[in-house]
Amino acid sequence: MNFQNVTVAGSGVLGSQIAFQTAYKGFKVSVYDINEEAIEQAKSRMMSLKERYKEDLRASADAVDSAYNRMSFYSDLKEAVQDADLVIEAVPELAEIKMKFYKQLSEVAPEKTIFATNSSTMLPSQFADSTGRSEKFLALHFANEIWLNNTAEIMMHPNTDSKVFEDVIEFAKAIGMVALPLQKEQPGYILNSLLVPFLEAAQGLLVKGIADPETIDKTWIIATGSPKGPFAILDVVGINTAYNIAYAKGQAGNEGSKKVAEYLKREYIDQGKLGTGTKEGFYTY
Ligand code: NAD
Repeated sequence: MNFQNVTVAGSGVLGSQIAFQTAYKGFKVSVYDINEEAIEQAKSRMMSLKERYKEDLRASADAVDSAYNRMSFYSDLKEAVQDADLVIEAVPELAEIKMKFYKQLSEVAPEKTIFATNSSTMLPSQFADSTGRSEKFLALHFANEIWLNNTAEIMMHPNTDSKVFEDVIEFAKAIGMVALPLQKEQPGYILNSLLVPFLEAAQGLLVKGIADPETIDKTWIIATGSPKGPFAILDVVGINTAYNIAYAKGQAGNEGSKKVAEYLKREYIDQGKLGTGTKEGFYTY
């Protein structure tokens, strides 16, 4: 692995964390998002991350300032990837957006560049053709709050070059992650094969009016000894991502998911309650 320059595309909840962690570990990072407004939001997310690293990791002010200074911000994709060894894609969890993004990326990225998707629920083989370089494409999936929950699931699709797989495993370790290689494609990897059905079950209970979020969380916490319940986890994940998953399943004909999507939109998203990122979701922070 000889990566030096890493581009992170999409600087929302996860993209900003991936970019900051990568810069914190000494890589040069280009942060790409669609327009100046999104870039300004990314910069403010980075400011919050600096504080979290100081609080949670006892990082020095110097270390977080240096991390910030190793990042450059772009709203032009060609400039953002001009010397990239690796592009990590963290754009919204919608197939159309990702497909379009990979087509644009394949036109402007240098030949050497490896592409990795951070998609939580989609398979890399779904986008492999759009990348124009399927052998240099795979999934690299992080968990939210990556500086604390430092898992990196690295998953090949049938056409990924094994050297690329090994290089990305090395990269994940180099940025402080515990590398978890998946030998075969699996929707949801290991983590979300477990987590998504759990969170969906909780949302189903809420939307059916069985119990409120506090009661559902309390049940889980006391009965299993887990530190957090599903709704506190959903606030960290971001309610937009939960909505996108429910919406896609609703469109595919799942009536329960359709009701969940409508509920999340009406009660939370339309009211600007998106989770911890906006200081309000199922709970207030
Ligand atoms: P988010 O909505 O917080 O951020 C998405 C970002 O992408 C926004 O900044 C948006 O402006 C930008 N964007 C939109 N269209 C774009 C385009 N064409 N090119 C570049 N940027 C574009 O979403 P998120 O929660 O950060 O999720 C991003 C990806 O990470 C998804 O694939 C999701 O499945 C995955 N993921 C999320 C979590 C989580 O807990 N939130 C965890 C692991 C993986």
